[in-house]
Amino acid sequence: MKKIVILGGGISGLAAAFYLQEFAGDAVDITLIDSAARLGGKIISAQEADFVIEGGPDSFITQKTAGLDLCRALGLEDALIGSSRAKHPTYVWSRGRLHPMPEGMMLMAPTMMLPFLRSRLISWPGKARMGMEVLIPRRNDDADESLASFVRRRLGAEALEKIAAPLMAGIHAADPERLSLQSTFPRFVEMEKQYGSLLRGIMQRSRARRHVHARAGAPPPHSPMFQTLRGGLQQLVDALAARLHLSTLLLNCRVLDVTREHGQYRIALSEGSRILADEIIFATPAYVTADWMQGMDSALASKLRSIRYVSTATVSLGYKREDVPHPLDGHGFVVAHNEKRSITACSWSSEKFKHRAPAGSVLLRVFVGGARAESIAEQEEDALAQIAQQELRATMGITASPGFTKVYRWHKGNPQYEVGHAALVAEMDALAARHDGLHLAGAAYDGAGIPDCIQRSIQIAQRIASKRSINRKEAV
Ligand SMILES: Cc1cc2nc3c(=O)[nH]c(=O)nc-3n(C[C@H](O)[C@H](O)[C@H](O)COP(=O)(O)OP(=O)(O)OC[C@H]3O[C@@H](n4cnc5c(N)ncnc54)[C@H](O)[C@@H]3O)c2cc1C
Repeated sequence: MKKIVILGGGISGLAAAFYLQEFAGDAVDITLIDSAARLGGKIISAQEADFVIEGGPDSFITQKTAGLDLCRALGLEDALIGSSRAKHPTYVWSRGRLHPMPEGMMLMAPTMMLPFLRSRLISWPGKARMGMEVLIPRRNDDADESLASFVRRRLGAEALEKIAAPLMAGIHAADPERLSLQSTFPRFVEMEKQYGSLLRGIMQRSRARRHVHARAGAPPPHSPMFQTLRGGLQQLVDALAARLHLSTLLLNCRVLDVTREHGQYRIALSEGSRILADEIIFATPAYVTADWMQGMDSALASKLRSIRYVSTATVSLGYKREDVPHPLDGHGFVVAHNEKRSITACSWSSEKFKHRAPAGSVLLRVFVGGARAESIAEQEEDALAQIAQQELRATMGITASPGFTKVYRWHKGNPQYEVGHAALVAEMDALAARHDGLHLAGAAYDGAGIPDCIQRSIQIAQRIASKRSINRKEAV
């Protein structure tokens, strides 16, 4: 039986364990080690007076199917809930007020003229510049580019400030001037290449889709963009934990060192014991993995260390509905790039998903920190709760005190996919491949979203299970 050790019990480590069990069955003996007292890593949900509060992720995107597939494999199908249909899915805080994102905005390009022209979010010169997108020649070079450079080049500075930076860079808590377009929004790169214009690409693709549905005689089905679980995403962690047959689970455990001796990995633990492994999966943040790799491969360690992480925090607040003057006809708002606010976004959690707040109440979740305001996220919990309330007063006019606040701080919690990231990951993967049985999982490499993390772990589990030395149960 092959001994596998997984370091890190976030969704990446848990998914690796689950799929290893699925693909290799009894042929593997799995040990999972985490320095925290609980499993789940960034995924953590809490119940507070009938509110369901998320500390980290609140949902996963459905376009990439690995999240949904895993929920289904765990029998969680009945607990899945989709994001609601909203009149104005997103608002933008700009120049002293909340503006609904104009209807028909797709991937930051306007596809419906009237709502776009009527919107007060973008100035007339800004609208004219966005409309000129179709005339901007395509770039004929394959080098990676920052999101900011791409949007400024194709749609202009105002589209960057008010749409792309808060929405797209916001997802990654990133600085748009440093965020890799290729690693985060490859669809934009493809569209520019194929159609010479985003606007033209979006129009042609949606026309083709409509044509297919018209021929089939059915309207395009509505599928929610995001899914979550009724009891919070912690339900996914709990279901995984219940299904795993680990030979050993070590929580609150400090790993001192990882070395390779006589064809096996030796993991030294703080209490003086050691564990041997044929295969080792590092599902920890890249800077943690780097420290363990230092002795074995300093070149790989230094590449791992070069992935920058930034700190963020979330503050959830529960209010009575009558204390929130806004109609809440959307999923929340983002803050335009150059606004001097202390928050980056606010989710109207109980509008985005059902079952998040009891009747007559509202759950809001404020985001702070990220690449451009890290120091705010490093403040104490009480200070963060105060900041959130002040900002909600200024942006949404909420003067009442919340029934409760709950703060989660994520110190160096968000990996940054900077320009050149894909090439860096290819180099790291090539270096890792020189060490038989060593695997790099986690949010730092092929995508930080939950489905991306699961997908990378599936590939690792497949790679291990397909080894001739492992007697595979079945291939999936
Ligand atoms: C505020 C926030 C909101 C987000 N929102 C979304 C969202 O809505 N949708 C989405 O898809 N993604 C979202 N993400 C991203 C997503 O949550 C993460 O990328 C993903 O959960 C990371 O999983 P992971 O297992 O790779 O890492 P982690 O969850 O970070 O797990 C790493 C594990 O390693 C352990 N560890 C660390 N150091 C050591 C050590 N020295 N020894 C042993 N163990 C160690 C940790 O305790 C942890 O359990 C969000 C992230 C944040 C921070």
